[in-house]
Amino acid sequence: MIKLEAQPDEIYDIELEHSLLEANEKLARQNRALLDEHGTTAIDFMGAIGSGKTTLITKLVEKLKNQCGVAVFNGDATTSEDADQIEKLGVPVVQIATINGCHLDANLVGKGLRKIDISKAKFIFIENIGNLICPAEFPLGSKARVVVVSVTEGPWMVRKHPHMFLGAQIVVINKIDLADAMGVSVEALINDVHTLKPDITVIPTSCKNGTGVDAVAQTLLAI
Ligand code: MG
Ligand code: ZN
Repeated sequence: MIKLEAQPDEIYDIELEHSLLEANEKLARQNRALLDEHGTTAIDFMGAIGSGKTTLITKLVEKLKNQCGVAVFNGDATTSEDADQIEKLGVPVVQIATINGCHLDANLVGKGLRKIDISKAKFIFIENIGNLICPAEFPLGSKARVVVVSVTEGPWMVRKHPHMFLGAQIVVINKIDLADAMGVSVEALINDVHTLKPDITVIPTSCKNGTGVDAVAQTLLAI
């Protein structure tokens, strides 16, 4: 087998990328300061397309909206399907269309923060673009990052995307009701996560039937 691996100096846009990441981190710190000023906790949700980010956020909003203020930012490349679904719950929603951009960044989130009354939100849930690679490199100013991974993505999802998990505080392993049908071991996925990052919180869920959503809500309330 021929193996080819990009070296840092072979990637032509590396210097551009470096300053881009630095600029993003600065804006993320500004977002965080603004959120802290209002006592608002932003949580961002990352994960592949179809992992269940929108369904998890929907269930969390249903659970929390009567006890505290909740707002949702929906990152989406082009459509507003997810934002439309959340909006039906009667909470403030900001749809962020990246126009085919593959991740949210702190600039876009900062613009969103200026469109809502932050002081009314205890939580802002931010749904990132469905992608397990670059969102990890772009902090948004959130207090915690959640990765949603589902058993339908196969047994190697965690091992193949270590950066995503190393930068997160909470991992949700979703669609556990389908684990047997998929031949995927939830225990093995949990072990993979803990091998990468022993102190991370891992919560198995089935967002469709509500299993584990309470545990996610309690974890977020304790942040
Ligand atoms: Mg979604
Ligand atoms: Zn990207």
